[in-house]
Amino acid sequence: MDLIGKLEILADAAKYDASCASSGGEKRDSSDRKGLGSSGGAGICHSYTPDGRCVSLLKILLTNACIYDCLYCINRSSSHVRRARFTVEEVVALTLGFYKRNYIEGLFLSSGIIRSPDYTMEELVRVARTLRETHQFRGYIHLKVIPNADPRLVEEAGRWADRLSVNIELPKPDSLERLAPRKEIGAIRRSMGHLRETIDEASVPARRARRRFAPAGQSTQMIVGADDADDARILQTSASLYGSYRLKRVYYSAFSPIPDASQGLPLKPAPLVRENRLYQADWLMRFYGFDVEEIVAGGEGGMLALGMDPKLAWALKHRDRFPLDVNRASREDLLRVPGLGVRTVDRIIASRRVRSLRADDLARLRVPFRKAAPFIVLPDHRPTGLLDRVDLASRLAPPPRQLDLFAA
Ligand code: SF4
Repeated sequence: MDLIGKLEILADAAKYDASCASSGGEKRDSSDRKGLGSSGGAGICHSYTPDGRCVSLLKILLTNACIYDCLYCINRSSSHVRRARFTVEEVVALTLGFYKRNYIEGLFLSSGIIRSPDYTMEELVRVARTLRETHQFRGYIHLKVIPNADPRLVEEAGRWADRLSVNIELPKPDSLERLAPRKEIGAIRRSMGHLRETIDEASVPARRARRRFAPAGQSTQMIVGADDADDARILQTSASLYGSYRLKRVYYSAFSPIPDASQGLPLKPAPLVRENRLYQADWLMRFYGFDVEEIVAGGEGGMLALGMDPKLAWALKHRDRFPLDVNRASREDLLRVPGLGVRTVDRIIASRRVRSLRADDLARLRVPFRKAAPFIVLPDHRPTGLLDRVDLASRLAPPPRQLDLFAA
């Protein structure tokens, strides 16, 4: 199989890993469409560096052959997909080639398990080492860590990579046991713990110059809808992962049925809008001071409402806490107003030190006034009666739209 054939298979297989942001990015140089593949930018995803820059990454697997048989995975050993495997040298050459042509700013590399966790980890490390040492590659590298791999290999991976990730896979340990019998939650959590300790140690200012270890931190991916875990359970698992291992991100990946699927799996895909609501809820936990119980209380029976974002759902269930005076309310309270984001709240607080804010000031701050209006008071605005309207939810929540991560 030639390199382009392998690229088509291994870029496509990598799209199921959501632990670096979106896939399907546009190619930058449309004059050479052939080289990058004819599948509309296959293999390019986007991720964010610690300073907030969005970077394009070549997102591939080293191989989609795997000795494990995780039932939810298209690459499991019993699957009948076409298999391919890059050599280390091929991944290095592809990365450098795309980088020089300005298609990408880095590499996201994962793999099925070849022979053993150690063997696989060693191959991944070899790619990163060759790029850094032999070719002085300065681009971004995100490597997947294989649970149960020798800690010395993981140490080395962190020396070359900007970010490392270990996939938690499923929200509940018993689901992992049932659907991925060769994976152990203990090994996954140990790997995350080891990463956290090493990242913490290396980020002490006195040591930073001597020891580089995954400066962009660690992330993980959780599959949503492959088991019966509700949104409350998923968010509790995320909250525990953020708290215990200081993850930069938990990525949620809506389960979609795979060919020849096991009977233990749902026949229908999880709605992508559920994935979207979980990302919004995750954001509320990390930046808006909400805890899991508050967020899911906005939905029903442990599930987030699909028809509106979780912050609006919470506000509608807690109308007694509104309206808030924009010129006097605490930062913590303002963060709970639908339509007010973190940056906007900080700008409101800075501006109101100088003078009292009015409705047109919020318009200048690009606040979606229609959404925030029922929940706030300003010198020239009072939401008289609005908050008590029985149809407030339908007035504020636009009809849900099915999103598709891999469209186009
Ligand atoms: S270890 Fe499991 S999830 Fe990972 S590639 Fe192999 S079968 Fe798929």
